[in-house]
Amino acid sequence: MENKIKVGILGATGSVGQKFIELLKNHPWFEIAELGASERSAGKKYSDATNWIMKTPLQKNVADLIVKECLPNFESKLIFSGLDSSVAEQIETDFANAGYFVISNSRNHRFDKDVPLLIPEVNADHLELLNAQPYKGGIVTNPNCSTIGMVLALKPLHDAFKIKKINVVTMQALSGGGYPGVPSMDIIDNVIPFISGEEEKMETEPLKILGKLDNGEIIFENNIKISAQCNRVAVIDGHLETVQVEFETKPTKDEIIAAWENFKGLPQELKLPFAPIKPVHYFSQNNLPQPKLQRDIENGMAASVGRLREDSLFHYKFVVLSHNTVRGAAGGTILNAELLKAKGFLDKILWAEKV
Ligand code: NAP
Repeated sequence: MENKIKVGILGATGSVGQKFIELLKNHPWFEIAELGASERSAGKKYSDATNWIMKTPLQKNVADLIVKECLPNFESKLIFSGLDSSVAEQIETDFANAGYFVISNSRNHRFDKDVPLLIPEVNADHLELLNAQPYKGGIVTNPNCSTIGMVLALKPLHDAFKIKKINVVTMQALSGGGYPGVPSMDIIDNVIPFISGEEEKMETEPLKILGKLDNGEIIFENNIKISAQCNRVAVIDGHLETVQVEFETKPTKDEIIAAWENFKGLPQELKLPFAPIKPVHYFSQNNLPQPKLQRDIENGMAASVGRLREDSLFHYKFVVLSHNTVRGAAGGTILNAELLKAKGFLDKILWAEKV
């Protein structure tokens, strides 16, 4: 226990916060020490403050923790944030200024010039931005949950064949809207063709993530044009996306499959604990991937692709699926933290922890 890095979770009572608690149960490097949420929850035992909806039981040592207010007086220097975006901006800034390292799931800091928008397999080199941050601690952000799955599938294709344009339509799970989320009367027997802010995120975030680091700045990959339409469907976990893509030079179907199958990044090289063995899994069956069947592949940390075929408007179309609260949120954040530790970026906050 003494050798593990103590972690504080902000927004611990929410959908992402609960997933953090579930995933960190036996983590080899990190242990949950403190939990924060709103004034409504602060001062209560965690088990009384939250409506636990994970499939695995809540661990006793966490259930008994007293929820704190989200003020920068935590003992743990590493902070995972699943805060509502209406409050995340100021709270995360306050923590970073006070010397904490914050890894956030909220949208607020994603486009700050000096903040990496990180998918460890895709743009680990963007961590260099941290050297320019004014904070005593630091901030790293996780992209939007639909963006992460799509970009994992697109990165190896962009590297090999240069993408020109993308059209994507999402079918997004209920857990992506937080807990309790969309009222049951609105979603049973229904599809809701609107998720606030989501299309804008999917059309812009990939351009930063796929951007090139130049003289300490990210040059956005503005050569790619993206059109996104986002829908909420009656699935609990797992965002399914249908993607049409056009390249500078049209590859063969086999070349696309080979690019997916051979794709690996720094987390795989470093064998980080949460790294999937293969970030992208290709399925040749014509009815896969499906949320119920593939969302938990590699413990929810890999994207699944399938239904690859030629398209009459673009070059190809395919389907990608990823687990929104695991790879798209809490699991992705944990992988970010593992990469930060492995690359020595947490050293400045861990001087007191004898890791
Ligand atoms: P959620 O279930 O609504 O949880 C929000 C959390 O924020 C709760 O713990 C809540 O605490 C806390 N909070 C609300 N107001 C607060 C305040 N004034 N001060 C301190 N804490 C406050 O939302 P979620 O789905 O977990 O999402 C959390 C963040 O992650 C959002 O920014 C979301 O966009 C992002 N995200 C979510 C997903 C996903 O799949 N769900 C994926 C990627 C990113 P109380 O319980 O005390 O109110």
